Amino acid sequence: MIGILGGTFDPIHFGHLRPALEIQECLDLDELRFIPCGLPPHRRRPQADMSHRLAMVEQAVALHPGFSVDRRELERDGPSYSVDTLESLRRELGPHVPLCLLLGMDAFAGLSSWHRWQDLFGLAHIVVAHRPGSDAPRAREAWAASRQAASPADLRAAPAGRILFMPVTQLDISATAIRDLVARGRSPRFLLPEPVLTYIQRHGLYLSTLSQRDACRQ
Ligand code: ATP
Repeated sequence: MIGILGGTFDPIHFGHLRPALEIQECLDLDELRFIPCGLPPHRRRPQADMSHRLAMVEQAVALHPGFSVDRRELERDGPSYSVDTLESLRRELGPHVPLCLLLGMDAFAGLSSWHRWQDLFGLAHIVVAHRPGSDAPRAREAWAASRQAASPADLRAAPAGRILFMPVTQLDISATAIRDLVARGRSPRFLLPEPVLTYIQRHGLYLSTLSQRDACRQ
């Protein structure tokens, strides 16, 4: 069974990595692929260039066996729709391999606004990680209730179509908060892997315009 976690990863942090590891172990995933998105369809452009975001994801996934990076969304033109990504993965994997799309609760709450969202269930299972500050949608829609899996075993029984909610360790970390810390000259250390922090510092990422000017003068 293969898992995928898409995101802007602007930058990648422990709120992505720890839940991903827990889900990988709990579901006994053979592989977990991190898929940095090129052009996010539902939000403004990422702050760091895709080459930097990719490099940071590469540094982070190198820390754990079984994690890998998939570049397909960065190599595609236009908005990075998950349904296109899953279709291309399905073409490679064939129809029988169970495939799990990992989402945080905040992303899951907006799922029904995604491009061709109903087609996602024909392509993959959805595994939802609880996230601080994001409650499960209150009146869970009928489409979600009828697809809900009781355990990881339900996901192995079919290649796609089920939804599993996973109570992972709650880490109140966001890329937005990390970018804000750096812009204010504060340290985001211990919120993200040390090699990623070193990369951010070396390339002067997320500095405010003012700090960037100072950095240039030095
Ligand atoms: P930003 O603050 O820029 O919006 P983010 O921290 O939410 O970024 P993304 O790259 O947008 O990170 O998230 C990718 C995926 O990881 C999404 O499905 C999101 O819900 C999930 N995710 C991000 N942070 C956490 C967290 N702390 N706990 C659980 N899931 C998370």
